[in-house]
Amino acid sequence: MNNKQSLMEKIESLAKRRGFIFQSSEIYGGFGSSYDYGPLGVELANNIKRQWWRSMVQMRLDVFGLDSAIIMHPKVWEASGHVESFSDPLVDCKQCKRRFRADHLLEASSAKPDLDGHREPPKNIADIVCPECGGELTQPRNFNLLMKTFVGAVEDGTSQTYLRGETCQGIYVNYQNIIDSSRVKIPFGIAQIGKAFRNEITPGNFIFRTREFEQMEMQYFIHPREADKWLKYWKGEREKWYKDLGLKDSFLQWREHGEQERAHYARAAWDIEFDSPFGGWKELAGVHDRGDWDLSRHEKFSGVDLKYLDPETKEKYTPRIIETSDGVSRAMLAFLINGYEEVDARSGDDQSKHGKEVVLRLDKRLAPIKVAVLPLSKKTNLETMARNIQKELAPYYMSQYDSSASIGKRYRRQDEIGTPYCVTVDFDSLADKKATVRERDTMKQDRIDIVDLKSYLDKKYSNV
Ligand code: ATP
Repeated sequence: MNNKQSLMEKIESLAKRRGFIFQSSEIYGGFGSSYDYGPLGVELANNIKRQWWRSMVQMRLDVFGLDSAIIMHPKVWEASGHVESFSDPLVDCKQCKRRFRADHLLEASSAKPDLDGHREPPKNIADIVCPECGGELTQPRNFNLLMKTFVGAVEDGTSQTYLRGETCQGIYVNYQNIIDSSRVKIPFGIAQIGKAFRNEITPGNFIFRTREFEQMEMQYFIHPREADKWLKYWKGEREKWYKDLGLKDSFLQWREHGEQERAHYARAAWDIEFDSPFGGWKELAGVHDRGDWDLSRHEKFSGVDLKYLDPETKEKYTPRIIETSDGVSRAMLAFLINGYEEVDARSGDDQSKHGKEVVLRLDKRLAPIKVAVLPLSKKTNLETMARNIQKELAPYYMSQYDSSASIGKRYRRQDEIGTPYCVTVDFDSLADKKATVRERDTMKQDRIDIVDLKSYLDKKYSNV
């Protein structure tokens, strides 16, 4: 087992043990590539989404929020090109019968990316054998990723539609509604967070690729002349967002899609990739120039004029779209991998009982628990004092109360879930009405008047 593989196993085991992520339907033996988010996982996911929404919608005057339906008119998916072209090339191993994505096999067999991030995979699948058993592979055939469903009592062609394969189609079909209701002018964006579904051929690598997942997408509507400028701008914004939330420089790289690789709608496509423990650089998020593909196609299929009339110049045109597309679970996985660190034993006086400690160095805006309250002992008067502190802080901060086991063990429990601050009350607290606040990364301890704890934390969390 190499280090990187074992890192992934450690993260999966931590995620399960501490209630971040569970295999779905586990009591029935699990359901392939479906995951459920436990008490800490749902907090982390919500914090990721909150930060994205804050930077994308709340902090901007030119981007508007939306929450559109998952099940839409089936024509949407014909117009978008997904019924015809949303497919991956599938190959089967003739010997062991396993299935693979031909593009992934090609990519895995290709050379390392050039310095500028370009990587054009070799062209021929015929040169590749099954990575599991060395058997011969079939010719690739296209496999459509849209998940079908039926609406209403009769299951026939007229009632068939799809679970959305990407959230952005809900944005395009509401583009005119937003213009009419919000009186916005180009350039402007529409942002949405929501579930998407893809019948992936080879889901896997924990939550990296699942068939049900959540996207955070923003479509920015621009004058066609300005595509290069806005593509560059949004690449910069997305990179800044990830780095501001703690992803290290060396953990990220950009890669441009080769011509063969681009989706049917894309004029230009860039991926932010992260250095994964399961096979090197993997896509974290995308920034795409979708041209005027989507609006032109919806105009054609719906018969509704979706052109934009510039109120000043009176020019009428179909806007071009720059898209930023991020996955919530991909982002979560990247933050967990980037933040996971094993350090030498450092907490409490029972250091001899353990070797390495785990510190999950999540940005405090993302940390599931913002503050933990720990009475030094289970003596009633200390417990009462600690419970009262937790009750005082609970309306403002996601908190935990923990009174079991030694204080060192309890610090370690909080460190491995990334809690930035622990408040400890000890016997002195009963007399001086002060508590000790310990910071996760530095382990610096401040002695604070209990009445001032909230304002102390308010200062620490002023950017949340
Ligand atoms: P891939 O090449 O990995 O299949 P893609 O290029 O098809 O991904 P996009 O359509 O660009 O992905 O989707 C945008 C983002 O949505 C991705 O960067 C990723 O964060 C997320 N995403 C896409 N597919 C999945 C999936 N099956 N599971 C989890 N997240 C996904």
